[in-house]
Amino acid sequence: MARVDLDGNPIKPLTICMIGAGGFIGSHLCEKLMSETPHTVFALDVYNDKIKHLLEPDSLPWAGRITFHRLNIKHDSRIKDSSRWQISPLISLRFAPPRITTRARSTPFTAISSTRSPWYSSSSGSVKYCSENNKRLIHFSTCEVYGKTIGAFLPKDSPLRKDPAYYILKEDESPCIFGSIEKQRWSYACAKQLIERLIYAEGAENGLEFTIVRPFNWIGPRMDFIPGIDGPSEGVPRVLACFSNNLLRGEPLKLVDGGQSQRTFVYIKDAIEAVLLMIENPARANGHIFNVGNPNNEVTVRQLAEIMIQVYSKVSGEKSPETPTIDVSSKEFYGEGYDDSDKRIPDMTIINRQLGWNPETSLWDLLESTLTYQHRTYAEAIKKVIAKPIAS
Ligand code: NAD
Ligand code: UDP
Repeated sequence: MARVDLDGNPIKPLTICMIGAGGFIGSHLCEKLMSETPHTVFALDVYNDKIKHLLEPDSLPWAGRITFHRLNIKHDSRIKDSSRWQISPLISLRFAPPRITTRARSTPFTAISSTRSPWYSSSSGSVKYCSENNKRLIHFSTCEVYGKTIGAFLPKDSPLRKDPAYYILKEDESPCIFGSIEKQRWSYACAKQLIERLIYAEGAENGLEFTIVRPFNWIGPRMDFIPGIDGPSEGVPRVLACFSNNLLRGEPLKLVDGGQSQRTFVYIKDAIEAVLLMIENPARANGHIFNVGNPNNEVTVRQLAEIMIQVYSKVSGEKSPETPTIDVSSKEFYGEGYDDSDKRIPDMTIINRQLGWNPETSLWDLLESTLTYQHRTYAEAIKKVIAKPIAS
């Protein structure tokens, strides 16, 4: 049966250029595009480990519809010379500068104030490229652009803290509230905000057709890395991979500053449905910024740890650690300059109205399938590393 969009019009096969296709979100999006649509993907990234299963062997049903191009967008002009590729949309997924300047997040981020910083100029390069070549742009931003909620500044016992007006995050109304400059955590959010503003201005002034996605803690298989197994031992990935690593090693889960911050987690497969709707319904998605999250899956980080401990015990058949969690200060865990978002509940009005999208997977179910994957993928490798005698 021919694919139709939300207005009943047939969907023509597209040729999509995806920058950062080899990452967590990119790999799931490529998988979806290959298995369920007729679209073609030019997958651009410096790595392809997470999409290797889609690239070979040649007998795959979608062979020829996805090609990988090893390319560093920072200093590779091939994208600019690629008008002959006849691509549209261009999806920009490449990760932003690290969030803070510590051992925790790989390389230090220094140049947010300079528009000549490599991250800014290569991101703005993609924006200019789309604007000048009349390509549609789907840009991945972050829910971190909201920063802290207004409610975070109210007294702890204020009844207004319970009023959604003080904490629900709305694309077209909520302010972006960051901490002071020495809280370098906010450099990432600030850089992402700068690009959102640039894209918005290109749309308003030069007619760029754009869609901005604000992911709210998308999680699932292939997210980040397990330190010392498929990433640096000293690296600190996002919370799902940190807690998975602790569980796989039988260690206590580390709760930063008591694990009181709240997050809403959405299953990657639900979120990818939303992105596909954006790709295939340009008339409904262009000119919009979309929150993509699951407001029903809210927990504190401490509750997340408790649920993950239960789920992991179920899927691995192993007993929970005797000391399941320990508290650790953010300074100890991330170093100087850390600060936290207190609460992140996405308002769903715009995405509901434009695309009729709703997330479906509960937190328990998404953790069950994700931790089953983590156990299957990493448990043996971790056992081997733990069994190795330490060189004296
Ligand atoms: P990821 O790190 O898994 O994927 C990003 C990919 O971009 C990586 O494969 C990386 O190799 C590639 N990349 C980085 N620099 C590049 C360069 N110079 N040239 C070519 N490729 C480059 O991250 P993800 O979780 O898939 O996130 C994708 C996007 O979504 C990012 O922009 C991120 O900021 C945003 N985001 C994601 C989440 C989430 O919940 N996963 C939350 C907020 C924002
Ligand atoms: N966190 C934690 N222990 C860890 C890793 C993260 O308590 O081992 C906390 C972190 O301080 C934050 C939340 O978990 O409050 C989510 O962190 P993540 O890095 O996943 O991304 P964020 O939602 O802050 O963008």
